[in-house]
Amino acid sequence: MPRIEKSHDRPWLPKLQPFSRYSAKNAAFYHSAEWKKVRDLQLMQHPICQECERLGRVTPATVVDHIKPINEGGDRLDQRNLQSLCETCHNRKSAREGRAVRLCPPLSAPRQTNENNNP
Ligand SMILES: [Zn+2]
Repeated sequence: MPRIEKSHDRPWLPKLQPFSRYSAKNAAFYHSAEWKKVRDLQLMQHPICQECERLGRVTPATVVDHIKPINEGGDRLDQRNLQSLCETCHNRKSAREGRAVRLCPPLSAPRQTNENNNP
């Protein structure tokens, strides 16, 4: 019996780009001497995870996070845009942001209308 292969394409969903926050352009930045200097300074000044601290927990910070992601226009080196996080809090924040990107497609994305259904 012939089978019709099902397509896994879902054109109604925005394309998911899980690693878009870490593009090749950003990878070069994260290896730069100026980032390492700012990162080390941030961890020295704020050695405790700031998210855990807000919840009354004391956890050593290991990751410096951009509060507003640099791909969304956040300043790369301004300490006001940086926070010290533990890996767990950083992964949780990254997952939330990835989900937010998927749930909120860019406003410039073409909208589907019923006009395309006309013969
Ligand atoms: Zn934490």
